[in-house]
Amino acid sequence: METEGVLMGDYTLQCMGGGETVDDHFALKCGNGHNGLLRAIYNKKQIEMRPYGGMFKFLDWLPTDTILKTESAPITFRNRKISKELGLKNLYIGFTGYYPERNAKVKSCTFKEMEALPTYARLIENGGGTVVVASAGNTARAFAQIAAEVGMDCIVVVPKLSADDILVAAESVHVKLFTVDGDYADATQMANRITSFEGYIPEGGASNIARRDGMGTVMLDGAISAGRIPDRYFQAVGSGTGGISAWEASLRLLDDGRYGDRLPKLELAQNAPFTPMAKAWNAGRREITAEDLGNADKDISNVYAHVLTNRRPPYSVAGGVFDAMTACGGGFHEISNDEARSAEKLWISMENVKPDPAASVAFAALIKATEYGKISPDECVFLNMTGGGLDRTKEDLSLAAMGVTSELSMGMTDTELRKCIDV
Ligand SMILES: *Cc1c(COP(=O)(O)O)cnc(C)c1O
Repeated sequence: METEGVLMGDYTLQCMGGGETVDDHFALKCGNGHNGLLRAIYNKKQIEMRPYGGMFKFLDWLPTDTILKTESAPITFRNRKISKELGLKNLYIGFTGYYPERNAKVKSCTFKEMEALPTYARLIENGGGTVVVASAGNTARAFAQIAAEVGMDCIVVVPKLSADDILVAAESVHVKLFTVDGDYADATQMANRITSFEGYIPEGGASNIARRDGMGTVMLDGAISAGRIPDRYFQAVGSGTGGISAWEASLRLLDDGRYGDRLPKLELAQNAPFTPMAKAWNAGRREITAEDLGNADKDISNVYAHVLTNRRPPYSVAGGVFDAMTACGGGFHEISNDEARSAEKLWISMENVKPDPAASVAFAALIKATEYGKISPDECVFLNMTGGGLDRTKEDLSLAAMGVTSELSMGMTDTELRKCIDV
């Protein structure tokens, strides 16, 4: 075979800013000052499904050789009623969440778990450490869940008022919750201070290739199920990292040669009134301006899908959302709360699982696009339902709020802070 001699997980890292190869596989930046994401270039060009559980079947195109035991993976299915309702003959639905009758067993209920798994796998190769996450949302749930399952350490930092929001389906001494008396900006600032200590590691956001290529498995699963790269890819975005990942996965599928010769159009949706990327893109700008951000505090408090309210998305950076949209074509959709809620109702009438609000935003964008006659009935469309099934986990699994380890105060010295977190 032509791939003989190529190690599994063998890849090089390339800086999208300068184009140069980066030797340190665990770097988040090139070190030459370029404002660009790093990208993994896998030596193995044709993907083969590996006989490992969950998402690790996609190991060929994950930046790790370590296989964690898991059942978590994206699934792809078709639903005749939904296809008929939308007038689409070739609709494929990707779902990453908890939905046992369709064999979806992602206990933290979103595709963020696809980011957490390879991140922890790589951490094992990199000598371990404690991942630090500042969020009460799906990212914290995913990282806490996987840390508990694999027995690795994780610290979650949240504003005091959000401490009850993080439910995990596993209790673990490895996962610790700290609160700050402040808002998210304070929690993030505190998390950054913690990651400056040795042994504490930032989750890395969009700059972490494990997160992006983990998310990219949704596109891989969709394309392999459909036998081709779709014509259009629908997803709700806050940071847009999922859109970048879909583009990168599609580039690999193009190179593979068996899945078609065209990139999918990216149809990305944001939840109005907070739609900074949609505004910048629709105005043809690479930069997000203050005007695009609008009255952020107020607008963010008024959206249905809070997970979509990232104020500093990797939009302008080389290899980021703007570049993904430029390469793929497609469009940005602004979806109102009402549109998202009515899409959700329609979904629930045809599938036995409640979507994450963000997934409802994606479904609404697809409905709207079909209503405007934007999509022809024969096009192959992939709808990424990025999360769902929290309702089902509450029936099947015992979920518990994490206990607070301690409250951190913003005025603490580094020595005091270390004492608190090194418990
Ligand atoms: C984080 C998240 C998104 C947005 O993902 P990005 O691609 O990072 O913008 C969408 N849906 C769900 C359920 C999420 O948790």
